[in-house]
Order: sequence, then C-alpha cells, then structure tokens
Amino acid sequence: QTFEELGLHKDLLKGVYEMGFSKPSKIQERALPLLLRDPPQNMIGQSQSGTGKTAAFVLTMLSRVDFSLNKTQALCLAPSRELARQIMSVVVSMGKFTPIQTEYAIKDHLPRDATKVTAHIVVGTPGTMFNLIRSRTLDTSEVKVFVLDEADNMLDQDGLGEQTLKVKNALPKSRPLQIVLFSATFPDHVRAFASKFAPNANKIEL
Ligand code: AMP
Repeated sequence: QTFEELGLHKDLLKGVYEMGFSKPSKIQERALPLLLRDPPQNMIGQSQSGTGKTAAFVLTMLSRVDFSLNKTQALCLAPSRELARQIMSVVVSMGKFTPIQTEYAIKDHLPRDATKVTAHIVVGTPGTMFNLIRSRTLDTSEVKVFVLDEADNMLDQDGLGEQTLKVKNALPKSRPLQIVLFSATFPDHVRAFASKFAPNANKIEL
C-alpha cells in the first residue's frame, strides 16, 4: 500500500516524502484508514515503539485540522516533556507544507501570560495542559481530536490518570471528539479504563 492510497492530502504527502518515508509501516497501514474515516471513530492502538505510531496519530491530527480556522482543534498528551518535544518535531516536519500552527503545553515552553493560544495543534503534558485550559489561555471549544501517547502511563490511576481525565472533562461535550490512544502495552488495570475513556474504539494490536 502507498500513502496516496490512504487518501492523505497532497500537502501532507509532500511532508511524509520529505521525511524520507516511502511507504506506510504496518501500523500506519492498518490504523490510518480507521483513523481518517468519517464520521471520526475512537481508537485504541497497541504497538511497540519504533513501529511508526507517532506518524499515524500526527497524520490524523494534521488531516483533521481546518487551517482556515485559527483555533485549537487537536490536543496531544504525552507523559514527559521530552516525548512531547519529539512528537512536536514530527508534527512540524509532516506539516511543513501546510500552514500549521503549533504550541507547547509543557512547563519550560509556557505561552506568555495573557496570550491566548490559538495554535491548531497543542502538544504537552497533562498537568500543564489542564492549567492552560483552566486559566482560559487555551480555548477548547473547537477541539475535535484528543490523542494520548504512551496511554498506559497517561491513564494509570496511580500516575497521570487523574490529570488526563481532568483535561478530557474540560473538553466540550457538545461536539464530537475523536479519542486516540496509543501504547506499547495495556496492562489489565489500565485496559478497562482505556475502554471507558475511548468508548466504542476500534482496537488494533500489532
Ligand atoms: P515511532 O514508532 O513513532 O516511535 O517511530 C519509529 C521510527 O520510524 C521513527 O524514527 C520514524 O521516523 C520512523 N518511521 C515512521 N513511519 C515510517 C515509515 N512509513 N517509513 C519509514 N520510517 C518510518
């Protein structure tokens, strides 16, 4: 299969090829047709790191953004600043031929006080993301995609689960939200919560 056959926008195809990817990886081949389907559907994807899952959810966010609207439309949460930075670099590279605007929600990159975030895609850690929403720096009224990377960590009740849930609960209930969870593992105590967090999700295991 080719990236063209996945139905990606031509500006995203340019970004993908510029990154040196010639064809979709297995997880991309399986996940992207489901992730890009309309109406949007939730996904719980399990695959090892190194399989190309980052590109799968980044292409989903970039495909769903309406660039003519200067409002935040996709949020991506990761358990560490380092991972958030890695994800952001993929967003920026893949979106190179689009007018994508991005912002971090991590402590050492905080948008200036009183500056409203209008970036299309915001990537960060859950505590900081929630603070930006609570302080109304980040307006979530147009958010339609919500991605958790390393979802096993993000949903663990002894760890980041509480913060992650706070972010989710701060998203508008009046508009459809596509929830996308990716993780290398889903331990039993997280699995049930993940299914509740992303109801009726397509499940992919690699
Ligand atoms: P990830 O599983 O998201 O951590 O990605 C693992 C590595 O695979 C990264 O270095 C990506 O740049 C690379 N990669 C992702 N998708 C592809 C692809 N379709 N073709 C070649 N390399 C890829």
